[in-house]
Amino acid sequence: MTQQIQTAPPSSVRPGLPHVELTGFEPSLDEDERAVQQAMHQFAREVMRPAGSALDKLSAEEVVAPDSPYWQFLKTVAASGIEFDAMAEDVPPAALARLQAIAVEELGWGDAGLAVSLGAGAFPRMMAARSGNQELVGLCEGRLGCWIGTQPDRGSDGLSLYPAERHAAAPQGNKGNLTARVSGGEIVINGQSSAWVSNGPVAQVGLVTIAADYGEGFFDSEGHPRGVEVVVPLDLPGVSRGRPLEKLGKRALPQGEVFFDDVKVPARFALALGDEYWRGHASTWSSAGVAMGQIMTGLARASFEHALEYCHERRQGGALLADHQLVQYRLGGMARKVETMRAVSRRATDYTFLSPSKHPYYTAGSKVTCTDLAFEVADEALQLFGGNGLTREYPVEKLFRDARAARIEDGENHLLSMKFGYLTSLLHRAARTRP
Ligand SMILES: Cc1cc2nc3c(=O)[nH]c(=O)nc-3n(C[C@H](O)[C@H](O)[C@H](O)COP(=O)(O)OP(=O)(O)OC[C@H]3O[C@@H](n4cnc5c(N)ncnc54)[C@H](O)[C@@H]3O)c2cc1C
Repeated sequence: MTQQIQTAPPSSVRPGLPHVELTGFEPSLDEDERAVQQAMHQFAREVMRPAGSALDKLSAEEVVAPDSPYWQFLKTVAASGIEFDAMAEDVPPAALARLQAIAVEELGWGDAGLAVSLGAGAFPRMMAARSGNQELVGLCEGRLGCWIGTQPDRGSDGLSLYPAERHAAAPQGNKGNLTARVSGGEIVINGQSSAWVSNGPVAQVGLVTIAADYGEGFFDSEGHPRGVEVVVPLDLPGVSRGRPLEKLGKRALPQGEVFFDDVKVPARFALALGDEYWRGHASTWSSAGVAMGQIMTGLARASFEHALEYCHERRQGGALLADHQLVQYRLGGMARKVETMRAVSRRATDYTFLSPSKHPYYTAGSKVTCTDLAFEVADEALQLFGGNGLTREYPVEKLFRDARAARIEDGENHLLSMKFGYLTSLLHRAARTRP
């Protein structure tokens, strides 16, 4: 039996189509929000997508070579005045949080690897600005940044804020292979980062988050590493780089090791020193997790839009894919996930910007939700393209690879989920001890 589809029901009888924005089912955007969204969307479509697609096909060495489209991309960014974390003193914090989420979603829609490069590039300046330290803001101004935290032997271990998270059989935490000694107003750094530092091969300034010895050893009385979070200009004597990393996904984002050989910086370049270290690290990491949710919402939306378009072109079974109920069900599942990601990432943005005491284990939970869902949406998009989805002729295999990387980036997802669970236990126990 042929199904009759009524395409234009009389408006007096049937509900009309709902109001939707580029960012889905929200009541509406105000004037400022719409202006920001349109500008970022145009930039994402006209600059980021072509650059991201071209860079994806190059080797890691070619991505950072002087004639690479990567540098042209950064020049266009600088000329257009786009800033990943624009601060506007006259905008109330709640409005600024929303504007940031709207803007960064568009960057993720354009190209997730380049969006991360912009985010990491702005990260040292952004954290310096949030600390209110104008000298450090000045030090970072006009310099491409990176965040140096993970090391060959210290990946997930650098993310344990509390000694009790350590395995029962481990006598101490892990200080890793990149450490600092702090004395006499100076910080001396030795060792190397992991190969995963975003912008590692090209950054001019780093926010370095590592274990530190203040003269009493690297570990406190509970066996937990002491640490320091410090801004380091990467043209100082003793800094060198490894080769750019070849990898699956986010290939437009240059990544690689940074080596430190007796690199000396004044202690006043620190954002978090001594007893303040773990609180400072928690604050920095909260901000990174928020951006991941926003970027990956954009990537998932891009995957969904490509799939939707393809389903309105490809015919099988005597009809457009979009006219099959099974396909409508699958599109509905994708759209639900994109809406969920946007809601979760905006909630994490609001919480992190506006709560009196944010926490990175909550942000970690939201990052897991967004990146796992983004991967599911990209996977389903590829599946809806059939065999075409696997070829480089179509955009979805790149989105699939980019989404895959995000489940490890900024903390591996199983581990982050465990940390969110750990936080819920801490909250439960604290509530039980309240009078
Ligand atoms: C695209 C991308 C961008 C990145 N950007 C940066 C950056 O800018 N700066 C930077 O410093 N780093 C960066 N990283 C590194 C990233 O933060 C780490 O890869 C991540 O934290 C995981 O560390 P690891 O790779 O060493 O894995 P490991 O920590 O070795 O984990 C391996 C496996 O063991 C499991 N595991 C680990 N610990 C435990 C435990 N205690 N209990 C149970 N299971 C455990 C994990 O869940 C995981 O499945 C980036 C990574 C990617 C992929």
